Order: sequence, then structure tokens, then C-alpha cells
Amino acid sequence: MSVSRRALLASSLGAALAPSLSLAAPAAPKGKKAGPPKLSFAPLELKLRHTWTIARGSADSKTNGLLAFEAEGVTGYGEAAPNKRWGQSHESGEAAFQRTLKACEGLSPWEHLAWLERAERESGPDSQIVCALDLALWDWKGKKLGVPVHRLLGVSQATMPVTSFSIGIDTPEVMAEKTKEAEPYPILKIKVGRDDVERNVNAVRSVTKKTIRVDANEGWSDPAVALEKLKWMKAQGVEFLEQPFPAGKDVEGMKLLRSEGVMPILADEPVLHPTDIPTIAPFYDGVVLKLAKCGGITRALEEIAICRAHGLRLMLGCMIESSLGIAAGVAVAPLFEWVDIDGNLLVSNDPWKGLVLTKGRWALPEGPGLGVSRA
Ligand SMILES: [Mg+2]
Repeated sequence: MSVSRRALLASSLGAALAPSLSLAAPAAPKGKKAGPPKLSFAPLELKLRHTWTIARGSADSKTNGLLAFEAEGVTGYGEAAPNKRWGQSHESGEAAFQRTLKACEGLSPWEHLAWLERAERESGPDSQIVCALDLALWDWKGKKLGVPVHRLLGVSQATMPVTSFSIGIDTPEVMAEKTKEAEPYPILKIKVGRDDVERNVNAVRSVTKKTIRVDANEGWSDPAVALEKLKWMKAQGVEFLEQPFPAGKDVEGMKLLRSEGVMPILADEPVLHPTDIPTIAPFYDGVVLKLAKCGGITRALEEIAICRAHGLRLMLGCMIESSLGIAAGVAVAPLFEWVDIDGNLLVSNDPWKGLVLTKGRWALPEGPGLGVSRA
């Protein structure tokens, strides 16, 4: 199934969602005439505390992008977190940014949705740039109005879920050590590959009784073997499984896994755009949304509404990001059942500060905009 965002939102489903979309466009204060905004995009080099290994590969560092949006004496910032899975890199993001810049000439800083529409048209698969621009626009708007973004969104600390903390694939000894280091975090998410599920879960279980979640990152292939792994994981107290099979090759396996109702199974990699949601809805229990995937806070609000309309449960995930990108996740986290926003905790040279995590719960920051400042 392939439909455009406009067609989807113009449908009866989209019409039903329309009230939620008005959240994204506060009216410009009277008498404030926007000057021409100045935008820049620069590399943001992040070093990882541990080599980060998932089913697809390993990394010791990550090059994200920092988008600055300056207008009327105020600068908003947004982070681009490229993912090789979608063919994205910092370089492809830079090119998409330049195209977006040209296409948005003449827009006022208050025409938030017009910026996004044009960025999406120019960015192609580089949703990282739509996300970075959207975050910068929200940060700018919040700073301009002197209020935190979460207040503009209307979310509440009262429904902030506990975030999980991710343990990447490693030797059993190192995974056990990482689990001990993760003592402050009440919930863990374990990465697994094709043949290491028992080994990795056992390594973590050997040192903790905490709730654990498992992410296979599309690493499995045989549905019958997957069902056995699922039942074994259930016996080890695993709460849910993320993305067992590759996107596009998951229907047969998912039908078998869900027929037994062992535990919730969430779709991550198959859902990049809102239009992907109706396609996967019959085969999964829930969806992992990430701001970098869907194009930022504004598009996340749309995807949340579409997922709810399809009866899908919701988790907010993240990429390896600094506290800037994670701050945007924190601003919408109370809208999700489950939260996995720990990318900044895996970074050793975070250039932003201002987020506070207590017993696994992020606090909505009180500063204007996204609520973080340069470290
Ligand atoms: Mg995942």
C-alpha cells in the first residue's frame, strides 16, 4: 500500500486527526514581523562510551548534524541523526539541507508547517533534515515566546514513562559488566543478533532481575525458530520484542509469532513515514516512533494519532544523539506507553546540558524552547 501524506491526511482518518494537528502551529504574536531567518548546518561529532554493536554492525563514534535557525534575535537548534539503514549520512544530510534552504527562501519563521512541507519535498529519504529543522523551529518558537516546548505541546510530567537503557551486543562478560554499570536504570533493552539471543539474555539475567526488552533489529529469518526464541524469552521475563524479521520480509513470520500471543511485538525499521503505518498495522502490536525517522515533533504527533486510530501501541525510540535531540524526545515522551530515549547516555562528549534523569524518568525541562544549553 502506498499513499502520500496529503492523501492520507485528506482521508476520513486524516480528517478525524485534524484537531491534533493544530497543536503544531501557534499563531504569530501580533506586531511581530519576522525577518529573514539565517540557517546553518554543521557536523556534530559524538564519541561513544562503549563500542556500539547491533545486528547490523558496530561503531565507536557517530557524526550527527547541528542545524541552527536564527531569526528576530533568537536562535533555535535541532539535531540531525543520520541512519545508514535508510541510506542517510552526514554528507547526504548536508546536501538535503542546502536544497531545503533554497526551497524555503522567503518563508517567515512562523510558517512552521510550510518549512516542513518544503523540507520533506527536498529531503527525500533524509528525514534527519526534516527532523533537525522541525526541532530547531520548535526550539526557536519556545525561546521566542519564553516557554518550554512541552508546554506548547500541552504534555504532562504525570504520564512520563520510565526510559529503558540499551545494552549493545558484546561478549557475555562485557554485557554483564555493562548491566552492572546500568544500575541506575530500572529497565534494560538488550540488542541481539541472529544466534546470540540466549547468550545475550542470559548474560544480562545473570546479574539482574530488572525488566528487560529485546531488539533483534531485523536479524532473524526462520519463523519457527523465532517462535521458540520468543517463548524462551518470555520465560526469562522479557517484556516485549522489537523487529524480529527484516522489513518487507516479515509478514509470514509475524503471522506465526502473533498467533501465539506470547508477548507484544513492535515494528521499528518498517515504519519510516506515516504512510507505512497502515501497511504494518495488521501484523504488529505496536510501533517504535523515532523523531529522526518520522521528521521531528510535528510529524510524531501525526504518527501517534494514526497509530492510535489503528489500535497500535506506541514506544518512543531514539538514535545515538546528544542531549539536544533527546530533549525533543523528552518533550513528547509522556504521549507514549513505552520510552527508550537513552542515546545521550551512550555518548561521552555530549555538547548539551539541561536534562535530568531520576530513577529512569526524564524531567520535562523548565527552560524555554527544548530546555537545553551548551555544556
Ligand atoms: Mg529498534
